[in-house]
Amino acid sequence: MKAAKLHGIRDIRIEEMPEPEPRPGEALVQVRAVGICGSDLHYFKEGRIGETVASEPLILGHEAAGVVEAVGEGVEDLKPGDRVAVDPALSCGKCEWCRKGHPNLCPHIRFFGTPPVDGALREYIAHPAEALFRLPQGLDYEDGAMLEPLGVALHAVDLAHLKPGQRIAVFGVGVIGLFVVQLARLSGAVQIFATDLFPFRLDLAGRFGADEVFRPDSEDPAAGIMEATGGRGVDVAFEAAWVHGTAEQAVEALAPGGTLVLIGIPLGEDVVSFRASSSRRKGLTVKMVRRMKHAYPRAIRMVERGLLDVRSPVTHRFPLDDVRRAFDMAAGYRDGVVKAMVELQN
Ligand SMILES: [Zn+2]
Ligand SMILES: [Zn+2]
Repeated sequence: MKAAKLHGIRDIRIEEMPEPEPRPGEALVQVRAVGICGSDLHYFKEGRIGETVASEPLILGHEAAGVVEAVGEGVEDLKPGDRVAVDPALSCGKCEWCRKGHPNLCPHIRFFGTPPVDGALREYIAHPAEALFRLPQGLDYEDGAMLEPLGVALHAVDLAHLKPGQRIAVFGVGVIGLFVVQLARLSGAVQIFATDLFPFRLDLAGRFGADEVFRPDSEDPAAGIMEATGGRGVDVAFEAAWVHGTAEQAVEALAPGGTLVLIGIPLGEDVVSFRASSSRRKGLTVKMVRRMKHAYPRAIRMVERGLLDVRSPVTHRFPLDDVRRAFDMAAGYRDGVVKAMVELQN
């Protein structure tokens, strides 16, 4: 089978490798769609995320869906032909944090496309059946792949404890930020602000329910948000931009007693910074988002009911052979790309 392997910075190659065999409890899945995520781009552009380094060749990709081709011994809930979304996180289920209900914090977690675990940018994967979620009729493979970033957005909104009638700001509206905007609207937010450097993303944020949008390269979003809220600020600010300065803007835009939710992964320096005086004076709560918990079933139900639009953010599609072009485009934010999707026809 074919696989896309990252050999070094910006060096991604299509290679032949043996097809995996499903072990007991696993299913063999023919991969059909893989979304390229910001964290994949970190490995592509910098070869690392903080202290996690891709020192060996690595298959990237963790937003995936496909069709079950065969099942291993003891798998009863899935059969060949079932279309499934792939949860890329495999926690141990036994440690203190798994037992306390925080599988996302499991120190033994194995996560697709994160060294040393290979990801989904290949024709076949063998994956534990309990981490495969059957797609209902109305959801196609791309929708299935989009459930992963949606799950992260759901977890972020869970951490924020959004309440109806609140004012919300989202700093950075890539795919996860766009989902947070949609979820904030569903949660009954009365005012939603979005910021981003790219106008095509702000257009989507507006379509998804943002009332006012700001471009931080030409205006001060915190000042704009303060003015639009009569000097009060927002109840919850989500940082999902991964660039220097957004956490600080979020803190300045928050109302006293507000909550800052940090979703992004800092680009370059491994530091998050914001002003101590304003965050202390306001008595802010800061929450860090680490992936997600058991979000797939909820995400599937919401998309199936038509409550969320997971299709509009998919702007570009590439065959596996063009994976290099897909990464170059996504890494350069070119051509109005929001989500680039690799589609495998097989
Ligand atoms: Zn992702
Ligand atoms: Zn564990």
